[in-house]
Formats: sequence, C-alpha cells, structure tokens
Amino acid sequence: MLILKQSLFEQIQAHGARDYPSECCGALLGQDSGTDRTVLGLVPLANQREDSPSNRFEITSEDVRLAEKAASDKGWELIGWYHSHPDSPARPSEFDREQAWPWYSYIIFRVEKAEPQEMRSWRLKDDRASYDEEGIEYIAGAPA
Ligand SMILES: [Zn+2]
Repeated sequence: MLILKQSLFEQIQAHGARDYPSECCGALLGQDSGTDRTVLGLVPLANQREDSPSNRFEITSEDVRLAEKAASDKGWELIGWYHSHPDSPARPSEFDREQAWPWYSYIIFRVEKAEPQEMRSWRLKDDRASYDEEGIEYIAGAPA
C-alpha cells in the first residue's frame, strides 16, 4: 500500500495540470516499512524529453542523484516516481516499462484537457515483464 497525504496528492495533480499537454514527472520521497510505504515529500523534475514531451518522460542519472540527495537530507528514502499521462489512461506504457526499475512505486495519473483524473500506482515485477498495481491510501495532512 502506498500512503499519500492529501496535500501531496494535490501537488502532484497541480503539476500535471500545469505541464499539460506535456507530461510532468517528479520523485516520491518517504519511508518504506517493508509492507507500507509513505510519501512524505516530492521533488518535481523537468521533463528531459524534447522530442516527444506529451507521451514520454525520462529520468536522468542526474535526477536520481538529486532526488536521493533530497531524500537523505530529510532522513528519508527515494521510494518512487510520478508522472502524468495527458489524455491517456493511468497505466504504464510499453515505453514506461522499458524505462522502469523494480522496487520503486510509479504513480501514473491521467490528465484530460488539463484536468487531473484518476491516479494509480504500479510496481514493476522483479522479472521486469509486467507490473503489480499498488493500492493508494489517501490520508489527511500537510507535507512533513
Ligand atoms: Zn508513462
């Protein structure tokens, strides 16, 4: 289960609306207990893809380094990534699967005509062939 504070959920949605019709992306920082993971902070990232920003997002090694540093500064871990799917469903594309790593949570949400829609979270299986959907539990609260 991925536990997401309402205020962070709203920040992710706002990022997707702002960057529409391009995809937005960012890092999820928080804590992993082994069973549940809790998102405690976000690092919004610039979409590095210039060829096709509306249906591709790419995380660079520099993004990973930046996000890991931001997490460790707070005593947290880098637990995943979020990105928007402008005008397409909130499930991973084939391109997403090729770029994804196991263990991380991948939040994907649909943005339809600049309005954020459903949000889902996915974890790539260890064989990297498919995903398990991860439930999202929304809780009240402000960012830590
Ligand atoms: Zn995608």
